[in-house]
Amino acid sequence: MSSHASDPPAMKAAPGNRRVVVIGGGPAGLMAAEVARAAGLEVDVHEAKGSVGRKFLIAGKGGLNLTHSEPMPAFVRRFRERSDEVGGWLREFDADALREWARGLGVETFVGSSGRVFPSDLKAAPLLRGWVRRLRESGVRFHVHHRWLGWNGDTLRFATPGGEGDVHADAVVIALGGGSWPQLGSDGAWQSLLIERGIDVAPLQPANCGFDIDWSGHLASRHAGAPLKPVVAHWRDASGREHHLQGECVISADGIEGSLVYALSAELREAIARDGHATLQLDLAPGRNLERLQKELAKPRGHRSISEHLRRQVGIEGVKAALLYEVLDKSQLDDPATLARTIHRLPLALKRPRPLAEAISSAGGVRLEAMNEVLMLKTRPGTFCAGEMLDWEAPTGGYLLSACFASGHRAGKGAVAWLKASMTA
Ligand SMILES: Cc1cc2nc3c(=O)[nH]c(=O)nc-3n(C[C@H](O)[C@H](O)[C@H](O)COP(=O)(O)OP(=O)(O)OC[C@H]3O[C@@H](n4cnc5c(N)ncnc54)[C@H](O)[C@@H]3O)c2cc1C
Repeated sequence: MSSHASDPPAMKAAPGNRRVVVIGGGPAGLMAAEVARAAGLEVDVHEAKGSVGRKFLIAGKGGLNLTHSEPMPAFVRRFRERSDEVGGWLREFDADALREWARGLGVETFVGSSGRVFPSDLKAAPLLRGWVRRLRESGVRFHVHHRWLGWNGDTLRFATPGGEGDVHADAVVIALGGGSWPQLGSDGAWQSLLIERGIDVAPLQPANCGFDIDWSGHLASRHAGAPLKPVVAHWRDASGREHHLQGECVISADGIEGSLVYALSAELREAIARDGHATLQLDLAPGRNLERLQKELAKPRGHRSISEHLRRQVGIEGVKAALLYEVLDKSQLDDPATLARTIHRLPLALKRPRPLAEAISSAGGVRLEAMNEVLMLKTRPGTFCAGEMLDWEAPTGGYLLSACFASGHRAGKGAVAWLKASMTA
Protein backbone atom coordinates (compact mmCIF):
# COMPACT_ATOMS: atom_id res chain seq x y z
CA MET A 1 0.00 0.00 0.00
CA SER A 2 1.39 3.42 -0.92
CA SER A 3 1.74 5.92 1.85
CA HIS A 4 0.63 9.57 1.78
CA ALA A 5 1.36 12.50 4.08
CA SER A 6 -2.14 12.24 5.49
CA ASP A 7 -2.36 8.47 6.02
CA PRO A 8 -2.90 7.39 9.63
CA PRO A 9 0.59 7.21 11.08
CA ALA A 10 2.36 3.84 10.91
CA MET A 11 4.57 3.11 13.90
CA LYS A 12 8.22 2.55 13.24
CA ALA A 13 10.96 1.25 15.51
CA ALA A 14 11.71 3.72 18.31
CA PRO A 15 15.02 5.48 17.77
CA GLY A 16 16.49 4.86 21.20
CA ASN A 17 13.47 5.99 23.23
CA ARG A 18 14.16 9.60 22.41
CA ARG A 19 11.51 11.89 23.80
CA VAL A 20 9.82 14.83 22.11
CA VAL A 21 7.92 17.20 24.35
CA VAL A 22 5.19 19.14 22.56
CA ILE A 23 4.00 22.21 24.45
CA GLY A 24 0.53 23.39 23.44
CA GLY A 25 -2.29 21.10 22.35
CA GLY A 26 -3.74 23.07 19.44
CA PRO A 27 -3.80 21.86 15.82
CA ALA A 28 -0.11 22.74 15.30
CA GLY A 29 1.12 20.95 18.43
CA LEU A 30 -1.04 17.88 17.89
CA MET A 31 0.11 17.57 14.29
CA ALA A 32 3.76 17.76 15.41
CA ALA A 33 2.99 15.11 18.05
CA GLU A 34 1.40 12.85 15.44
CA VAL A 35 4.37 13.09 13.08
CA ALA A 36 6.94 12.52 15.84
CA ARG A 37 5.05 9.53 17.26
CA ALA A 38 4.64 8.01 13.80
CA ALA A 39 8.43 8.07 13.52
CA GLY A 40 8.70 5.98 16.70
CA LEU A 41 9.60 8.70 19.18
CA GLU A 42 8.23 8.96 22.70
CA VAL A 43 5.86 11.92 22.69
CA ASP A 44 4.43 13.92 25.59
CA VAL A 45 1.98 16.76 24.98
CA HIS A 46 1.79 19.37 27.76
CA GLU A 47 -1.24 21.65 27.71
CA ALA A 48 -2.02 24.55 30.07
CA LYS A 49 -5.78 24.09 29.93
CA GLY A 50 -7.80 21.12 31.16
CA SER A 51 -8.27 19.84 27.61
CA VAL A 52 -6.61 20.29 24.23
CA GLY A 53 -7.89 22.02 21.08
CA ARG A 54 -10.21 24.59 22.64
CA LYS A 55 -9.72 27.17 19.91
CA PHE A 56 -10.17 24.49 17.27
CA LEU A 57 -13.52 23.66 18.88
CA ILE A 58 -14.59 27.31 18.81
CA ALA A 59 -13.62 27.45 15.13
CA GLY A 60 -16.15 24.63 14.77
CA LYS A 61 -18.91 26.94 15.94
CA GLY A 62 -18.48 28.85 12.68
CA GLY A 63 -18.65 25.63 10.65
CA LEU A 64 -14.90 24.82 10.86
CA ASN A 65 -13.45 26.21 7.67
CA LEU A 66 -10.61 23.70 7.53
CA THR A 67 -8.86 24.83 4.36
CA HIS A 68 -9.46 26.29 0.91
CA SER A 69 -9.70 24.63 -2.48
CA GLU A 70 -8.12 27.37 -4.60
CA PRO A 71 -4.96 26.57 -6.59
CA MET A 72 -1.67 26.68 -4.70
CA PRO A 73 -0.32 29.95 -6.21
CA ALA A 74 -3.42 31.89 -5.12
CA PHE A 75 -3.48 30.02 -1.79
CA VAL A 76 0.07 30.96 -0.83
CA ARG A 77 -0.41 34.62 -1.87
CA ARG A 78 -2.82 34.91 1.08
CA PHE A 79 0.24 34.82 3.33
CA ARG A 80 1.48 38.11 1.83
CA GLU A 81 5.17 38.74 2.56
CA ARG A 82 5.47 35.27 4.14
CA SER A 83 4.07 33.42 1.13
CA ASP A 84 7.44 31.88 0.22
CA GLU A 85 8.05 30.36 3.63
CA VAL A 86 4.47 29.31 4.38
CA GLY A 87 4.19 28.04 0.80
CA GLY A 88 7.12 25.72 1.54
CA TRP A 89 5.30 24.18 4.52
CA LEU A 90 2.05 23.95 2.56
CA ARG A 91 3.62 22.15 -0.36
CA GLU A 92 4.49 19.35 2.08
CA PHE A 93 1.08 19.28 3.72
CA ASP A 94 -1.44 20.99 1.47
CA ALA A 95 -5.22 21.31 1.37
CA ASP A 96 -5.61 17.85 -0.23
CA ALA A 97 -3.36 16.27 2.40
CA LEU A 98 -5.41 17.95 5.13
CA ARG A 99 -8.66 16.67 3.61
CA GLU A 100 -7.23 13.16 3.40
CA TRP A 101 -6.03 13.40 6.96
CA ALA A 102 -9.60 14.30 8.03
CA ARG A 103 -10.92 11.39 5.96
CA GLY A 104 -8.49 9.13 7.80
CA LEU A 105 -10.32 10.14 10.96
CA GLY A 106 -13.67 9.28 9.40
CA VAL A 107 -14.58 12.89 8.57
CA GLU A 108 -15.44 13.69 4.95
CA THR A 109 -15.09 17.28 3.72
CA PHE A 110 -16.84 19.32 1.04
CA VAL A 111 -16.03 22.46 -0.95
CA GLY A 112 -18.54 25.25 -0.32
CA SER A 113 -19.67 27.69 -3.00
CA SER A 114 -16.91 30.13 -2.01
CA GLY A 115 -14.23 27.45 -2.46
CA ARG A 116 -13.82 27.08 1.30
CA VAL A 117 -13.53 23.53 2.63
CA PHE A 118 -15.59 22.28 5.58
CA PRO A 119 -16.19 18.94 7.30
CA SER A 120 -19.47 17.53 6.04
CA ASP A 121 -21.07 17.87 9.49
CA LEU A 122 -19.58 21.40 9.89
CA LYS A 123 -18.31 20.39 13.32
CA ALA A 124 -14.88 20.32 14.96
CA ALA A 125 -15.71 18.10 17.95
CA PRO A 126 -15.93 14.71 16.15
CA LEU A 127 -12.66 15.43 14.34
CA LEU A 128 -10.85 16.47 17.52
CA ARG A 129 -12.28 13.57 19.54
CA GLY A 130 -11.21 11.03 16.92
CA TRP A 131 -7.79 12.60 16.59
CA VAL A 132 -7.04 12.67 20.32
CA ARG A 133 -8.24 9.06 20.60
CA ARG A 134 -5.94 8.00 17.75
CA LEU A 135 -3.01 9.87 19.28
CA ARG A 136 -3.58 8.26 22.69
CA GLU A 137 -3.91 4.81 21.14
CA SER A 138 -0.65 5.35 19.28
CA GLY A 139 1.06 6.06 22.60
CA VAL A 140 1.12 9.87 22.79
CA ARG A 141 0.84 10.90 26.44
CA PHE A 142 -1.22 13.96 27.38
CA HIS A 143 -0.52 16.14 30.42
CA VAL A 144 -3.25 18.73 30.91
CA HIS A 145 -3.13 21.60 33.41
CA HIS A 146 0.60 21.77 32.69
CA ARG A 147 1.54 25.38 32.01
CA TRP A 148 4.98 25.93 30.58
CA LEU A 149 6.90 28.57 32.54
CA GLY A 150 10.09 28.68 30.47
CA TRP A 151 13.47 26.99 30.73
CA ASN A 152 15.36 26.02 33.83
CA GLY A 153 18.82 25.56 32.36
CA ASP A 154 18.31 22.89 29.71
CA THR A 155 15.08 21.50 31.12
CA LEU A 156 11.53 22.74 30.74
CA ARG A 157 9.72 24.20 33.74
CA PHE A 158 5.99 23.57 34.18
CA ALA A 159 3.37 24.65 36.69
CA THR A 160 1.20 21.59 37.36
CA PRO A 161 -1.61 20.85 39.83
CA GLY A 162 1.04 19.09 41.97
CA GLY A 163 3.36 22.12 41.98
CA GLU A 164 6.20 23.27 39.76
CA GLY A 165 8.52 20.77 38.17
CA ASP A 166 11.14 20.27 35.49
CA VAL A 167 10.77 18.05 32.45
CA HIS A 168 13.59 16.74 30.33
CA ALA A 169 13.17 16.51 26.57
CA ASP A 170 15.44 15.37 23.76
CA ALA A 171 13.57 17.69 21.41
CA VAL A 172 10.82 20.23 22.01
CA VAL A 173 8.05 21.57 19.79
CA ILE A 174 6.53 24.78 21.13
CA ALA A 175 3.08 25.53 19.65
CA LEU A 176 1.40 27.98 22.00
CA GLY A 177 -0.86 29.82 19.57
CA GLY A 178 -1.32 33.57 19.17
CA GLY A 179 -2.99 35.96 21.57
CA SER A 180 -6.61 36.15 20.46
CA TRP A 181 -9.44 34.77 22.59
CA PRO A 182 -7.03 34.20 25.52
CA GLN A 183 -9.77 32.50 27.53
CA LEU A 184 -9.23 29.48 25.26
CA GLY A 185 -5.61 29.11 26.41
CA SER A 186 -3.43 30.91 23.88
CA ASP A 187 -2.74 34.08 25.80
CA GLY A 188 0.56 35.16 24.25
CA ALA A 189 2.29 35.00 27.66
CA TRP A 190 5.04 33.00 25.97
CA GLN A 191 6.33 36.16 24.29
CA SER A 192 8.32 37.30 27.32
CA LEU A 193 9.66 33.75 27.93
CA LEU A 194 11.18 33.70 24.46
CA ILE A 195 12.26 37.33 24.33
CA GLU A 196 14.20 37.02 27.60
CA ARG A 197 16.13 34.14 25.96
CA GLY A 198 17.09 36.42 23.08
CA ILE A 199 14.62 34.90 20.58
CA ASP A 200 13.40 37.43 18.04
CA VAL A 201 9.65 37.91 18.42
CA ALA A 202 7.54 40.46 16.51
CA PRO A 203 4.90 41.80 18.93
CA LEU A 204 1.54 40.07 18.59
CA GLN A 205 -1.10 42.23 16.96
CA PRO A 206 -4.76 41.75 16.11
CA ALA A 207 -5.47 40.17 12.72
CA ASN A 208 -8.88 39.44 11.21
CA CYS A 209 -10.23 42.06 13.56
CA GLY A 210 -12.73 44.88 13.76
CA PHE A 211 -11.86 48.58 14.03
CA ASP A 212 -12.93 51.41 16.31
CA ILE A 213 -14.95 54.31 14.90
CA ASP A 214 -16.20 57.23 16.98
CA TRP A 215 -19.90 56.73 16.34
CA SER A 216 -22.44 59.11 17.79
CA GLY A 217 -24.31 57.73 20.80
CA HIS A 218 -27.41 57.54 18.60
CA LEU A 219 -25.84 55.33 15.94
CA ALA A 220 -24.10 53.10 18.50
CA SER A 221 -27.22 52.56 20.58
CA ARG A 222 -29.70 52.16 17.71
CA HIS A 223 -27.69 50.24 15.14
CA ALA A 224 -25.03 48.14 16.94
CA GLY A 225 -25.33 44.61 15.56
CA ALA A 226 -26.92 45.74 12.28
CA PRO A 227 -25.55 43.97 9.21
CA LEU A 228 -24.42 46.12 6.32
CA LYS A 229 -24.93 44.20 3.11
CA PRO A 230 -24.14 44.15 0.36
CA VAL A 231 -21.49 46.86 0.31
CA VAL A 232 -18.27 47.37 -1.62
CA ALA A 233 -15.23 48.52 0.35
CA HIS A 234 -12.74 50.81 -1.39
CA TRP A 235 -9.30 51.53 0.06
CA ARG A 236 -5.82 52.56 -1.00
CA ASP A 237 -2.75 50.46 -0.29
CA ALA A 238 0.61 51.83 0.88
CA SER A 239 1.60 52.67 -2.71
CA GLY A 240 -1.65 54.62 -3.25
CA ARG A 241 -3.22 51.98 -5.49
CA GLU A 242 -7.00 51.68 -5.15
CA HIS A 243 -8.63 48.34 -4.35
CA HIS A 244 -12.19 47.24 -3.83
CA LEU A 245 -13.94 44.21 -2.43
CA GLN A 246 -17.62 43.35 -2.09
CA GLY A 247 -18.90 41.70 1.04
CA GLU A 248 -20.70 42.15 4.31
CA CYS A 249 -19.88 43.83 7.58
CA VAL A 250 -21.59 44.58 10.85
CA ILE A 251 -21.90 47.84 12.77
CA SER A 252 -20.77 47.37 16.37
CA ALA A 253 -21.13 49.69 19.35
CA ASP A 254 -17.46 50.62 18.98
CA GLY A 255 -16.99 50.58 15.23
CA ILE A 256 -17.17 48.02 12.48
CA GLU A 257 -16.47 44.29 12.14
CA GLY A 258 -17.40 41.30 10.00
CA SER A 259 -15.91 39.28 7.17
CA LEU A 260 -15.36 42.15 4.73
CA VAL A 261 -13.46 44.19 7.34
CA TYR A 262 -11.48 41.13 8.51
CA ALA A 263 -10.35 40.53 4.94
CA LEU A 264 -8.87 44.05 4.81
CA SER A 265 -7.65 44.15 8.38
CA ALA A 266 -3.94 43.65 7.70
CA GLU A 267 -3.82 46.59 5.29
CA LEU A 268 -6.01 48.78 7.50
CA ARG A 269 -3.97 47.98 10.62
CA GLU A 270 -0.74 48.79 8.79
CA ALA A 271 -2.20 52.07 7.46
CA ILE A 272 -3.16 53.12 11.00
CA ALA A 273 0.32 52.22 12.29
CA ARG A 274 1.87 54.22 9.44
CA ASP A 275 -0.44 57.25 9.22
CA GLY A 276 -2.21 57.26 12.58
CA HIS A 277 -5.58 56.63 10.92
CA ALA A 278 -7.18 54.86 7.97
CA THR A 279 -10.17 55.72 5.84
CA LEU A 280 -12.38 52.98 4.55
CA GLN A 281 -14.88 53.98 1.90
CA LEU A 282 -18.06 52.00 1.45
CA ASP A 283 -20.29 51.94 -1.59
CA LEU A 284 -23.69 51.57 0.05
CA ALA A 285 -25.50 50.97 -3.24
CA PRO A 286 -23.41 48.54 -5.29
CA GLY A 287 -24.90 48.17 -8.73
CA ARG A 288 -25.86 51.87 -9.00
CA ASN A 289 -23.17 54.10 -10.42
CA LEU A 290 -22.71 57.70 -9.33
CA GLU A 291 -24.49 59.13 -12.35
CA ARG A 292 -27.56 57.00 -11.75
CA LEU A 293 -27.59 57.83 -8.05
CA GLN A 294 -27.39 61.53 -8.83
CA LYS A 295 -30.19 61.33 -11.37
CA GLU A 296 -32.48 59.37 -9.08
CA LEU A 297 -31.85 61.59 -6.07
CA ALA A 298 -32.29 64.79 -8.11
CA LYS A 299 -35.95 63.89 -8.73
CA PRO A 300 -38.22 66.27 -6.82
CA ARG A 301 -39.07 64.88 -3.40
CA GLY A 302 -42.03 67.19 -2.74
CA HIS A 303 -43.17 66.90 0.87
CA ARG A 304 -41.50 63.54 1.38
CA SER A 305 -38.80 63.30 4.07
CA ILE A 306 -35.20 62.68 3.06
CA SER A 307 -35.43 59.17 4.53
CA GLU A 308 -38.46 58.38 2.43
CA HIS A 309 -36.83 59.88 -0.67
CA LEU A 310 -33.71 57.72 -0.10
CA ARG A 311 -35.79 54.61 0.36
CA ARG A 312 -37.98 55.16 -2.70
CA GLN A 313 -35.37 56.42 -5.12
CA VAL A 314 -32.30 54.38 -4.29
CA GLY A 315 -33.42 51.70 -1.83
CA ILE A 316 -31.34 53.10 1.04
CA GLU A 317 -32.90 52.65 4.48
CA GLY A 318 -32.21 51.38 8.00
CA VAL A 319 -28.58 51.34 9.02
CA LYS A 320 -27.40 52.55 5.60
CA ALA A 321 -29.56 55.67 5.92
CA ALA A 322 -28.39 56.12 9.51
CA LEU A 323 -24.78 56.16 8.31
CA LEU A 324 -25.57 58.99 5.91
CA TYR A 325 -27.13 60.97 8.75
CA GLU A 326 -24.00 60.20 10.76
CA VAL A 327 -21.57 61.79 8.31
CA LEU A 328 -23.65 64.51 6.60
CA ASP A 329 -25.24 67.61 8.08
CA LYS A 330 -28.71 68.88 7.15
CA SER A 331 -27.63 71.05 4.22
CA GLN A 332 -25.50 68.24 2.77
CA LEU A 333 -28.40 65.82 3.08
CA ASP A 334 -30.51 68.31 1.11
CA ASP A 335 -28.02 68.38 -1.75
CA PRO A 336 -28.63 65.44 -4.15
CA ALA A 337 -25.10 65.59 -5.56
CA THR A 338 -23.44 65.36 -2.13
CA LEU A 339 -25.86 62.67 -1.05
CA ALA A 340 -25.14 60.60 -4.16
CA ARG A 341 -21.36 60.95 -3.73
CA THR A 342 -21.60 59.88 -0.09
CA ILE A 343 -23.75 56.85 -0.86
CA HIS A 344 -21.19 55.92 -3.50
CA ARG A 345 -18.16 56.39 -1.22
CA LEU A 346 -19.18 56.68 2.44
CA PRO A 347 -15.98 57.66 4.29
CA LEU A 348 -15.39 55.87 7.58
CA ALA A 349 -12.52 57.08 9.77
CA LEU A 350 -11.01 54.04 11.49
CA LYS A 351 -9.20 54.93 14.70
CA ARG A 352 -7.55 51.71 15.77
CA PRO A 353 -7.95 47.93 15.54
CA ARG A 354 -10.08 46.32 18.21
CA PRO A 355 -8.00 44.65 20.95
CA LEU A 356 -6.09 41.43 20.21
CA ALA A 357 -8.24 39.48 22.67
CA GLU A 358 -11.27 40.03 20.40
CA ALA A 359 -9.55 39.27 17.10
CA ILE A 360 -9.95 36.00 15.22
CA SER A 361 -6.18 35.59 14.95
CA SER A 362 -2.82 37.22 15.59
CA ALA A 363 -0.19 38.79 13.42
CA GLY A 364 3.38 38.85 14.71
CA GLY A 365 5.13 36.12 16.67
CA VAL A 366 8.43 34.28 16.46
CA ARG A 367 10.20 35.72 13.43
CA LEU A 368 10.82 33.13 10.76
CA GLU A 369 14.40 34.40 10.52
CA ALA A 370 14.94 33.15 14.10
CA MET A 371 14.42 29.59 12.84
CA ASN A 372 15.92 27.38 10.19
CA GLU A 373 13.78 25.90 7.45
CA VAL A 374 12.52 23.04 9.61
CA LEU A 375 11.38 25.61 12.17
CA MET A 376 14.16 24.90 14.70
CA LEU A 377 15.25 27.93 16.71
CA LYS A 378 18.72 28.89 15.58
CA THR A 379 19.76 29.79 19.11
CA ARG A 380 18.24 26.67 20.75
CA PRO A 381 19.07 23.56 18.74
CA GLY A 382 16.44 20.88 19.30
CA THR A 383 13.66 23.39 19.99
CA PHE A 384 11.09 23.92 17.22
CA CYS A 385 8.13 26.30 16.95
CA ALA A 386 4.88 25.90 15.02
CA GLY A 387 1.44 27.35 14.45
CA GLU A 388 -0.07 30.75 14.96
CA MET A 389 2.74 31.78 17.32
CA LEU A 390 4.96 32.23 14.25
CA ASP A 391 5.18 35.56 12.46
CA TRP A 392 2.76 35.13 9.57
CA GLU A 393 -0.83 36.15 9.05
CA ALA A 394 -3.61 35.31 6.66
CA PRO A 395 -7.27 36.14 6.16
CA THR A 396 -10.06 33.82 7.22
CA GLY A 397 -10.99 31.19 4.64
CA GLY A 398 -9.27 28.12 6.09
CA TYR A 399 -5.79 29.59 5.60
CA LEU A 400 -5.11 29.90 9.33
CA LEU A 401 -5.72 26.27 10.19
CA SER A 402 -3.95 25.14 7.00
CA ALA A 403 -0.77 26.96 7.99
CA CYS A 404 -1.02 25.72 11.58
CA PHE A 405 -1.34 22.09 10.50
CA ALA A 406 1.39 22.45 7.87
CA SER A 407 3.85 24.13 10.23
CA GLY A 408 3.15 21.50 12.91
CA HIS A 409 3.85 18.85 10.30
CA ARG A 410 7.09 20.58 9.29
CA ALA A 411 8.25 21.09 12.91
CA GLY A 412 7.41 17.47 13.81
CA LYS A 413 9.42 16.21 10.88
CA GLY A 414 12.21 18.60 11.80
CA ALA A 415 12.35 17.20 15.35
CA VAL A 416 12.49 13.63 14.01
CA ALA A 417 15.30 14.46 11.58
CA TRP A 418 17.23 16.37 14.21
CA LEU A 419 17.03 13.51 16.74
CA LYS A 420 18.05 10.96 14.12
CA ALA A 421 21.01 13.12 13.11
CA SER A 422 22.04 13.68 16.73
CA MET A 423 22.01 9.88 17.32
CA THR A 424 24.35 9.21 14.44
CA ALA A 425 26.60 12.21 15.20
C1 LIG B 1 -13.68 32.34 16.93
C2 LIG B 1 -12.59 31.74 16.07
C3 LIG B 1 -12.95 31.06 14.91
C4 LIG B 1 -11.96 30.54 14.08
N1 LIG B 1 -12.34 29.88 12.95
C5 LIG B 1 -11.40 29.42 12.10
C6 LIG B 1 -11.75 28.72 10.91
O1 LIG B 1 -12.94 28.45 10.65
N2 LIG B 1 -10.76 28.35 10.05
C7 LIG B 1 -9.43 28.60 10.32
O2 LIG B 1 -8.58 28.27 9.49
N3 LIG B 1 -9.07 29.18 11.48
C8 LIG B 1 -10.01 29.60 12.38
N4 LIG B 1 -9.62 30.20 13.53
C9 LIG B 1 -8.18 30.30 13.85
C10 LIG B 1 -7.63 28.96 14.34
O3 LIG B 1 -8.50 28.37 15.29
C11 LIG B 1 -6.23 29.16 14.94
O4 LIG B 1 -5.41 29.80 13.97
C12 LIG B 1 -5.58 27.85 15.37
O5 LIG B 1 -6.35 27.20 16.39
C13 LIG B 1 -4.17 28.08 15.90
O6 LIG B 1 -3.61 26.81 16.17
P1 LIG B 1 -2.32 26.67 17.09
O7 LIG B 1 -2.13 25.21 17.30
O8 LIG B 1 -1.20 27.46 16.54
O9 LIG B 1 -2.72 27.39 18.46
P2 LIG B 1 -3.97 27.16 19.43
O10 LIG B 1 -5.07 26.45 18.76
O11 LIG B 1 -4.24 28.51 19.99
O12 LIG B 1 -3.38 26.19 20.54
C14 LIG B 1 -2.34 26.60 21.40
C15 LIG B 1 -2.43 25.77 22.67
O13 LIG B 1 -1.33 26.10 23.51
C16 LIG B 1 -1.79 26.13 24.85
N5 LIG B 1 -0.88 26.97 25.65
C17 LIG B 1 -0.70 28.31 25.57
N6 LIG B 1 0.23 28.71 26.46
C18 LIG B 1 0.67 27.59 27.09
C19 LIG B 1 1.65 27.33 28.10
N7 LIG B 1 2.38 28.33 28.63
N8 LIG B 1 1.85 26.07 28.52
C20 LIG B 1 1.14 25.03 27.97
N9 LIG B 1 0.19 25.21 27.01
C21 LIG B 1 -0.04 26.48 26.59
C22 LIG B 1 -3.17 26.72 24.75
O14 LIG B 1 -3.95 26.42 25.87
C23 LIG B 1 -3.68 26.05 23.47
O15 LIG B 1 -4.35 24.85 23.73
C24 LIG B 1 -10.59 30.70 14.41
C25 LIG B 1 -10.24 31.36 15.59
C26 LIG B 1 -11.23 31.88 16.42
C27 LIG B 1 -10.83 32.60 17.68
